[in-house]
Amino acid sequence: MANPRGFLEVRRAPAPERAPRERVRDSHEIFGTLPEPELRDQASRCMDCGVPFCNNGCPLGNLIPDWNDLVRRGMWREAIDQLHATNNFPEFTGLVCPAPCESACVLDIADDPVMIKQIEYAIVDRAFEEGWIVPRPPENRTGLAVAVVGSGPAGMAAAAELNQVGHTVTVYERDEAPGGLMRFGVPDAKLEKWMIDRRIALLEAEGIEFACGVDVGADVGAEEIAERHDAMVVAVGSRVERPLEIPGADLDGVHYAMDYLYQRNRAVAREEGREAPTAKRVITAGGKRVVVIGGGDTGMDCLSSANREGAESVLMLDVYGNVPEGGRYANTPWPMAPRRTETTYALDEGGERRFGTQVTELEGDGGSLVRVHGRHVAGSSSRDLRPVPGSEFVERAELCLVAIGFQHPAHEGLLSDLRLALDARGNVSAKSFATSREGVYAAGDARIGQSLIVNAIADGRRAARVIDRRLREGAAAPAGAAA
Ligand SMILES: Cc1cc2nc3c(=O)[nH]c(=O)nc-3n(C[C@H](O)[C@H](O)[C@H](O)COP(=O)(O)OP(=O)(O)OC[C@H]3O[C@@H](n4cnc5c(N)ncnc54)[C@H](O)[C@@H]3O)c2cc1C
Ligand code: SF4
Repeated sequence: MANPRGFLEVRRAPAPERAPRERVRDSHEIFGTLPEPELRDQASRCMDCGVPFCNNGCPLGNLIPDWNDLVRRGMWREAIDQLHATNNFPEFTGLVCPAPCESACVLDIADDPVMIKQIEYAIVDRAFEEGWIVPRPPENRTGLAVAVVGSGPAGMAAAAELNQVGHTVTVYERDEAPGGLMRFGVPDAKLEKWMIDRRIALLEAEGIEFACGVDVGADVGAEEIAERHDAMVVAVGSRVERPLEIPGADLDGVHYAMDYLYQRNRAVAREEGREAPTAKRVITAGGKRVVVIGGGDTGMDCLSSANREGAESVLMLDVYGNVPEGGRYANTPWPMAPRRTETTYALDEGGERRFGTQVTELEGDGGSLVRVHGRHVAGSSSRDLRPVPGSEFVERAELCLVAIGFQHPAHEGLLSDLRLALDARGNVSAKSFATSREGVYAAGDARIGQSLIVNAIADGRRAARVIDRRLREGAAAPAGAAA
């Protein structure tokens, strides 16, 4: 069992990180891994608590104390088996998960939490290096076919699990390549795309077919796909942006974050020869004064991408108030994860974040953005914001990126064609994964709203269990049959 004195003897080490000034000149990975002896020391800080809050804090229920102890003892092969038992894609979460497990670590009450996320990444990195991760196609096939629409982490996880139990899975993806927001939202600096390709190649070798460039509900009828399969999983994400309802929102130079990030990710793919050149007009930040509205993950990715393009300046306006000293908001006490952190990878590279600010107007000249008008606001949540009198300010800007969140999945097309019932927030109503339509299930952001990769993987896995049970019970009529 764990070393009972480890946390008293070993301090948490910072994760190796390339210098911000150097990495901002390229689109390569930011973080590295510690050498093995140091990783084993770090794992020894895990106390193997009687109630492992970390395990509860991880949406996948990762068996954190178990694999920490295996790493401490140098049993890497066993560690990857433990990790894969609950997480299909630890290389993604090990890099880009905000690690709610670490916020829930008991050590975080009075010390620095155990380095869980980096250890997770180190386990899977080592396993790939050693050649331990190989395709494992199922031994038997059930003869039942499942269509997964959407190849983000939810669709990938559902497909992986359903294929493992012997169903024949086809993943339909509208974009030119699989991965969802991991490929076209998250920048390469956080997650290099060859990692997605490596995992997709494994899934293909296990028997999953990926049909990319197919918009279900447009290029091919949703009914037709439903009819052709024994079950269908709707894992289309939640991409309808929250609208920016202020004067000037339609000026040239004002863009939604996803339009910019899709183009940036495609541009990086082209630079690296992964995609053919295009003559399409692109949104660029190079040489411009950029204002990012919104201080969440999406805003941070806009900030870091704009810095990589050589923006003259990047100002992030965030309605949330300052991060309290010690990093814990009163409304997210331990073991909850904080809403904002004192700094981020993107802010370390440059740019300014201004808390407690609200944009009131975008001013144009000849139809193009020239200035951003804002004011300071006070309040404890986005619902009770009060303007601070006399706090108005004006900033010059040529590009404004709007990253204020997403509402729900697109309703037209697939969802409306299948007449799927929606919940109060406009997501697909599928409390237990089954939608209002017999044989059609939902998973990931399309069901729970815009969230995290770890939640999407967890949701895809849970959906797969429900679908498999229904298919085996013979309860599912062809997916096209009305409920
Ligand atoms: C910019 C940005 C950065 C983020 N960074 C992080 C991060 O660092 N860490 C983290 O944990 N989370 C992050 N997230 C959140 C995370 O990416 C999502 O929660 C997660 O990807 C959701 O997975 P999903 O599979 O449900 O949907 P998505 O990843 O959105 O995938 C849905 C897929 O369905 C496809 N699709 C949609 N409609 C159709 C159709 N009709 N036919 C065929 N295909 C269709 C889409 O093209 C897409 O590929 C970020 C989100 C954004 C926007
Ligand atoms: S998936 Fe995220 S929450 Fe779970 S152990 Fe890994 S870093 Fe922690």
